[in-house]
Amino acid sequence: MKEIGIALLGLGNVGLGTYRILADHARDIERRLGAKVRVRHILVRDGGRSRPEDVPASLITRDIGTILNDPEVSIVVEVMGGLAPAKEYLERSIASGRNVVTANKALLNAHGEQLFSQALSRGVDLHFEGAVCGGIPIIRTLREALASDRVSSIHGIVNGTTNFILSAMADEGATYEDALAQAQKLGFAEADPTMDVGGMDAAQKLCLLASLAFAARVSPEQVHVEGITSLRPVDITLGREAGYVLKLLATARRLSEGLDVRVHPAFIPQASPLADVRGAFNAVLLQSAALGASLFSGLGAGSLPTGSAVVSDIIDICRNLLAGVSGRLPMLCSPYLQDVSLIPSTQRRGPYYLRFSVSDEPGVLGRIATVLGEKGVSLASVIQRPSRPEDPHATIVVFSHSAREQDVQSAVKWIDGLASTRSPTQVIRIEEGPGVLRS
Ligand code: NAP
Repeated sequence: MKEIGIALLGLGNVGLGTYRILADHARDIERRLGAKVRVRHILVRDGGRSRPEDVPASLITRDIGTILNDPEVSIVVEVMGGLAPAKEYLERSIASGRNVVTANKALLNAHGEQLFSQALSRGVDLHFEGAVCGGIPIIRTLREALASDRVSSIHGIVNGTTNFILSAMADEGATYEDALAQAQKLGFAEADPTMDVGGMDAAQKLCLLASLAFAARVSPEQVHVEGITSLRPVDITLGREAGYVLKLLATARRLSEGLDVRVHPAFIPQASPLADVRGAFNAVLLQSAALGASLFSGLGAGSLPTGSAVVSDIIDICRNLLAGVSGRLPMLCSPYLQDVSLIPSTQRRGPYYLRFSVSDEPGVLGRIATVLGEKGVSLASVIQRPSRPEDPHATIVVFSHSAREQDVQSAVKWIDGLASTRSPTQVIRIEEGPGVLRS
């Protein structure tokens, strides 16, 4: 039987999951492929560290040269993370005619266009299913299955850490700080969670999805990104009373004026299929012209879920090699990508949740309502909570009708300057359009 040689760059969470799936599912993979996949080398940083017993020591190397000089290696799988030396190793692999797989969303966002162009001109595959939503086959869906369709919107819960934290706040009434500590203890959050809780991890994933869905150049620096650090259990409780669930929502929509791409906390209706996505799970809800609504959900990270995405890429590349058709899928570079204009987040139109913390005195609600009215933000409903022993300030929550974000922000800026306002107003967007619903 024909054998295809591969090398792994990295034997951490994803590298080990990839290795184990290749070993444990070897028979199935051989039957599906009509060829064997053999791991010939595994690159690591620390040559002295003891490795799991099921990984033969003879495979471990610290020298990329061993891999690039082995003519039997056809596929290089980058699961080491970071920008350097991952970028250089991928470039050298592609330059030497190797097909490559990466699960590195940060690298693809920073240098993807260059790497995809290089792969295109060299006629090799660059696959990246593991880079977005771990084991959920969303890249393949957009790159292949929906190549026939016209996607109009993507709404996703694409960061497991923040979804775990928000679920714990909703289910247990935990504070943000306690929920984060719990996520770290259970291994769902990094020691430095900034990329996750600040929304940038979700933005990197969303940009890859939006680039594929809309054949457009979209980078995280262009996107409005807000994290979850300012959210309080009271927001979740008050939203729930109004029929909403609070999520860190990644949104990309194709509108006539351009693309609307954002990552921020949002209230979504309890009837949305995304509302049921709990804990460390991820989900992406697509709307497309021919198929309509389609939902993809599963574990968005972890050794085996991400390893399964990486191995599926390896199998695809093997099939292409066996058929002599490498480089057949569109790459995220010219001529497949085009520049598009992004709609500024200030142009968003939709309803808002506004939580004001104010001094408990007569006339405050009237002043707030007047400012909102002057700015063109009309009130759909209002909740008032008097001060309590544990909170010396009164809370006023406004659910607005659809309003322009610029007007909402300008009203909030004005209200936050009033003497009666005790802390910055919490502004949460409400997303209840057809994009977040099943039909
Ligand atoms: P990890 O556990 O930290 O493992 C990294 C591996 O790469 C380690 O084996 C490390 O070697 C090796 N490595 C790092 N720098 C190296 C260098 N300069 N030279 C040689 N080897 C080096 O990372 P991970 O969680 O598996 O993540 C890998 C990639 O997958 C990242 O791009 C990440 O964003 C992506 N990803 C991860 C997940 C997940 O659930 N973890 C999900 C989706 C995507 P040592 O073992 O010697 O330290």
